[in-house]
Amino acid sequence: VMRIRSMSDWILWEVASLFENIGTVQDGINTIARPRAVTDRSDAGALAVPRGEISFQDIRFHYGPEGGVTDSRVIEGLSLDIKPGEKVGLVGRSGAGKSTLVNLLLRFYDLEGGRIEIDGQDITQVTQESLRRQIGMVSQDASLLHRSIRENVRYGRPDAGDDAVRDALKRAQALDFVEELRDTKGRQGLEAHAGERGVKLSGGQRQRIAIARVLLKDAPILVLDEATSALDSEVEAAIQEQLYALMEHKTVLAIAHRLSTIAVLDRLVVLDEGRIVETGTHAELLRRGGLYAELWKRQSGGFLGVEDDGEAGQAP
Ligand code: ATP
Repeated sequence: VMRIRSMSDWILWEVASLFENIGTVQDGINTIARPRAVTDRSDAGALAVPRGEISFQDIRFHYGPEGGVTDSRVIEGLSLDIKPGEKVGLVGRSGAGKSTLVNLLLRFYDLEGGRIEIDGQDITQVTQESLRRQIGMVSQDASLLHRSIRENVRYGRPDAGDDAVRDALKRAQALDFVEELRDTKGRQGLEAHAGERGVKLSGGQRQRIAIARVLLKDAPILVLDEATSALDSEVEAAIQEQLYALMEHKTVLAIAHRLSTIAVLDRLVVLDEGRIVETGTHAELLRRGGLYAELWKRQSGGFLGVEDDGEAGQAP
């Protein structure tokens, strides 16, 4: 569990849950990667995002050697242009490189080749703080600060008042349970502290607080990594609606294993072994009969429905 002690800690914290995912993937073989030090240039300015265009240009990257067992390239000369306001879903088998692409966009690691630009600005030329401030993120396993619920939500927009915090919690279907919270020191509601010495929250509750944070933050770029995976279907439907509303006018990069949750997006990008193998809409990719069609068929066919929630087969 990551603890927040300094300014740079909190900057990293936004992507901490993502980092923990990497840890989980690698835990079994004990090769948790330490990120290479990513540093701001001395003359780094603030990223400005007037439009929200993202451009991955021939990027190359691999984890290691300090990262672990393999030296093989994870991302092999990948190029992808995402238009302002476009909603793109990343699809692919486990290990295809979806989370890596998101890690790189957040500049959690530096590239070995190529560049990533947001509205024409190379992300290595701007401060990490300004980069991450412009990107709202919800990931599979949302971790919270060991602080009050208020601080956890307001982290997305430090100057927000309680009305705005409550509104965001409400839209994230979290206000009802938050108001019932009482931690071990008797602090209640927004005052209650999350974590070890506070209240223990379920994965779904943590995810809803993370969603409230993103709703409040209202950043121009959204990264959703299985944003609603921990929620039961009724809550998920309600939140999905809020997320779709939030996505309007924003550039979105969404990862989902359950293809039904991203099938509606403007464009799907199918990754395999760090390369883009197909792109198109859900319908186009089904017609194409390639990897996406195969993955879709598997999820909707039922016989391989272990990770399937039973809804994946229905057309969205
Ligand atoms: P999943 O659907 O399982 O989340 P993914 O498509 O997001 O997979 P990535 O997590 O990007 O895939 O992983 C791409 C490759 O990089 C895999 O081979 C993975 O084992 C490796 N990898 C990911 N994170 C690390 C790390 N921190 N250190 C070393 N290797 C890593």
